Amino acid sequence: MQSSKFKITITGGAGFIGSNLCEYFLEKGHEIVCLDNFATGHRHNIEHLLPNNNFTLIEGDIRNYTDCQKAVIGADYVLHQAALGSVPRSIADPITSNDVNVSGFLNMLSASKEAGVKRFIYAASSSTYGDSESLPKVEEVIGKPLSPYAITKYVNELYADIFSKTYGIETIGLRYFNVFGRKQDPNGAYAAVIPKFVMQFMKHESPVINGDGNYSRDFTYIDNVIQMNELAMTSQKTEAVNTVFNTAYGDRTTLNDLIQYLQKSLATFDPKIAEVKIIYGPNRAGDIPHSLASIDKAKEILGYNPKFSLQQGLNEAVKWYWENLK
Ligand code: NAD
Repeated sequence: MQSSKFKITITGGAGFIGSNLCEYFLEKGHEIVCLDNFATGHRHNIEHLLPNNNFTLIEGDIRNYTDCQKAVIGADYVLHQAALGSVPRSIADPITSNDVNVSGFLNMLSASKEAGVKRFIYAASSSTYGDSESLPKVEEVIGKPLSPYAITKYVNELYADIFSKTYGIETIGLRYFNVFGRKQDPNGAYAAVIPKFVMQFMKHESPVINGDGNYSRDFTYIDNVIQMNELAMTSQKTEAVNTVFNTAYGDRTTLNDLIQYLQKSLATFDPKIAEVKIIYGPNRAGDIPHSLASIDKAKEILGYNPKFSLQQGLNEAVKWYWENLK
């Protein structure tokens, strides 16, 4: 990273990934503007950053164009993370997911273009691969979306592409694959599997696996995702912009292996956890059986070198949950 200091707008900055990005780039001495409406994010994720003069919180909504305009004044870069995540949430309420993930995205992209932002980097998603069965997933081969959420994330890529071609704003989409790590919310109906399982084990409750546990995912530790955002911001290569990159570790693990590893790891803190039984339930609508990223494009063009495997990341995450949520 160059020594220059930038003004970076981070939407969804009170959420899991966004708050980690705020913390990291603030620590590097950049000026951060965080836009969040706390729909799924939490004040406690950013409370410790509020006294820093380089940190500004705008409590606002990406569905409101004026809030978006306010957030990008003078910004060099935008790291757009705000969205309603979760496939089941989008199946339960596709209209709100579309309002936030599509209209909100377009508002941010348009406000960024108007404000002369250098580069708009956004959270895309592995769900865009949809029903494509080919493994590993390469950026150029996608299938048909399997959920309203997947549609919203694919539409983001289409808008980013058109905006870069039509208006010349640089865009980079990072297709995140099952991100996990510190500050990911373990609570609520739409919690992600890793923090949900950790929390259940800590309470000696049985976690429920949807299906037989043989579905696999490319679980990606948060620090690898931070590295990708930084590389996307700083890359000077022309082929790095106006495109999308898989953001993953590049290995896949079944749900059964994941849960066994978590149970073993948590049992070192509390031996009773080893006795908790796992329950198996039906498969979930909109879930793809297997997911594995090719990270060749990110390695070749951005120089990406993920530092945390699933196990290394899980060790960090479990320790963090134990210290912060027990
Ligand atoms: P999160 O729910 O923790 O963070 C999202 C943040 O956006 C929250 O702070 C929320 O309050 C905010 N937000 C939601 N609606 C808003 C609105 N209308 N206006 C302003 N702020 C709003 O989720 P996350 O896991 O940190 O996800 C961040 C991004 O990464 C999302 O775009 C998500 O779709 C994408 N993504 C995440 C994963 C993953 O595994 N976590 C995988 C693929 C893509």
